[in-house]
Amino acid sequence: MGERKGTNKYYPPDYNPAVGGLNKFKGTHALRERARKIHLGIIIIRFEMPYNIWCEGCNNHIGMGVRYNAEKTKVGMYYSTPVYQFRMKCHLCDNHFEIKTDPANLDYIIVSGARRQENRWDPTQNEQVVPETKETSRRLFDDAMFKLEHKNNDVVVSKKSSVVLNRLLERQEDVWKDDFAANSALRAQLRASKKELKEKELKSSEIDKKLFIDVPILAEKEEDKNLASLLSLKSKLVKKESTLPSVKKLKSLKPFDDFSVSNKKEDTEPSSASFKSLVSDHYNSGSSSE
Ligand SMILES: [Zn+2]
Repeated sequence: MGERKGTNKYYPPDYNPAVGGLNKFKGTHALRERARKIHLGIIIIRFEMPYNIWCEGCNNHIGMGVRYNAEKTKVGMYYSTPVYQFRMKCHLCDNHFEIKTDPANLDYIIVSGARRQENRWDPTQNEQVVPETKETSRRLFDDAMFKLEHKNNDVVVSKKSSVVLNRLLERQEDVWKDDFAANSALRAQLRASKKELKEKELKSSEIDKKLFIDVPILAEKEEDKNLASLLSLKSKLVKKESTLPSVKKLKSLKPFDDFSVSNKKEDTEPSSASFKSLVSDHYNSGSSSE
């Protein structure tokens, strides 16, 4: 914002061009509040964290790309390149970081207040392709002997990697040479799985219709079948209720028969006392088995 405020084009009526520009006339800096410490050689800039760090004050991880208002100062020179130092406050605690540029290694160095998360590695150790450095390419141009040695090394490297490359090519041929066959095999597989899925859905919807529910039913498993065969729905309570009129007796009753009369005669309806004993029996057996 400070930079944009400097482009104010309003000239007050008492403006005297002999003093100089607008800022000189008003006694302000073009960068406004970003230049409030200019007399100390400090300018305030927006600094973006160049790599992941840990704050030494709160031990929090601060990711690459987090931006801070930092005080920028020039602390020295590397040949003709100035070395700048940036001082900023952690946004999670009261700790301050100091980071300076490292022109020799095209990098930033943490001076104080934080630790760097080490994500650097040597690309040659990871079998990565590394471009030639400037020094090597200059020697290749000038030094014929060096060029010859370099060429011999390249031949050795190419021989080593050709085995792997050939294997990769062969695999590529195996898998993708007959792409029609590969495609039709995939489609056949998909068709079969679709058919299976449809059958399952049909089965599930049939069960839903039978039970008058609308719930997707999972596929039947052998494990479920075994578990179901072990379960029985008979309980002690049901067995002891022999005093209730049997199905046979109920069937033999004629319509409009006085059920209560026939019951009284045979005294088949369980009395409240007998029901209580049944319940207590059930609970006693339950508690003893625990
Ligand atoms: Zn912190």
